[in-house]
Amino acid sequence: MNPTMHMASTIARSMAAAVLALLLAAVTLGGALAEAAGEAKADMVSSVSGERMMATVDALAQFGTRVFYTSSSADSSAYVHDRLADLGLWVYYQDLNVSDFAVRNVVAVLNGTDRDAPQTLFGAHYDSSGGNLWNFSVGGTVLAPGADDDASGVAAVIELATVLSGVHPKGTVKFVAFTAEEAGLNGSRYFAERERAQGVAYSNTAILDMIGYRMESANEALIFQDYDANSLGDSMSKAVRDYSLDLSVTQVAGKEMTGSDHASFWAAGYPSLLVIEAFSSRLPENPYYHTSLDIPDYLSPDQMVEVTKMVLGGFLSLESAPSSSIPTTAVIIIGAAVIATVAAGAILIIRRHREWET
Ligand SMILES: [Zn+2]
Repeated sequence: MNPTMHMASTIARSMAAAVLALLLAAVTLGGALAEAAGEAKADMVSSVSGERMMATVDALAQFGTRVFYTSSSADSSAYVHDRLADLGLWVYYQDLNVSDFAVRNVVAVLNGTDRDAPQTLFGAHYDSSGGNLWNFSVGGTVLAPGADDDASGVAAVIELATVLSGVHPKGTVKFVAFTAEEAGLNGSRYFAERERAQGVAYSNTAILDMIGYRMESANEALIFQDYDANSLGDSMSKAVRDYSLDLSVTQVAGKEMTGSDHASFWAAGYPSLLVIEAFSSRLPENPYYHTSLDIPDYLSPDQMVEVTKMVLGGFLSLESAPSSSIPTTAVIIIGAAVIATVAAGAILIIRRHREWET
């Protein structure tokens, strides 16, 4: 073996060793990052707070009534707006008319890292009903605290926004409080039709409507989803097992249950599902529903927490790694750069060595 060849083969061997070491480091680092991402997701899920959610429910119930045409309903929309804006999200009102009353949806936007990626939406209605909704001289004067229906859902949407506001999801996430659901899904229909007209793509939309009333002692939720396979519905069911949630969940497929805002998304051709508490064949089991007794005292913070954790966990497992996607990319780029530098250095050494030889 001549000395040049010997030198070249030594360099080749050390290069191979360096590449192997780098690959090993990348794999180890990748595994550690994946584990860290899993831990970050678990931390987010466990940070869901029943205290925070009940504070939201109390605040909304204290408006007395949120019947869509009342000034107190308008005041409650400002409250929701400010809660979402305080998280640093971009928040706007979407104005519409329902029976000649000017009303508004509240829309908060968490920008995704990929503008073209399909979006996700979490929604709930902030209006309430105490009965006599269409008798304008009576309906607005009846006490309608709407704690379960649907301050509980709005509290969950604000909680999801609170936990997710610090992460960078791939697709944009919208958090929406709809108006005039009780008067015929008006706010959500207006919103979904406009999103469709503007060509907004959604991979998933989820409506939370009445999640706080617990039958007896067991936490319970139903998912009314469009088809047998709904990625978010399936992922939420899986999250109950993955995070050992204290929640019994049932998925019901088919578009028969159309009594809430998810139906507006189905009508606009979007995938959608409804998350709701114990439900008989046609009506919620909550006996105080649509009465002046739909108050915070009858809600279970524990059930609200478990349901919200299920929705959050389901969403997070569909995200590859919302918090660590940038570091993973950085590791690959740095790794490639190091390998390229080592290779270039080796080539340089070989060339110089050959120059000495000649
Ligand atoms: Zn409702």
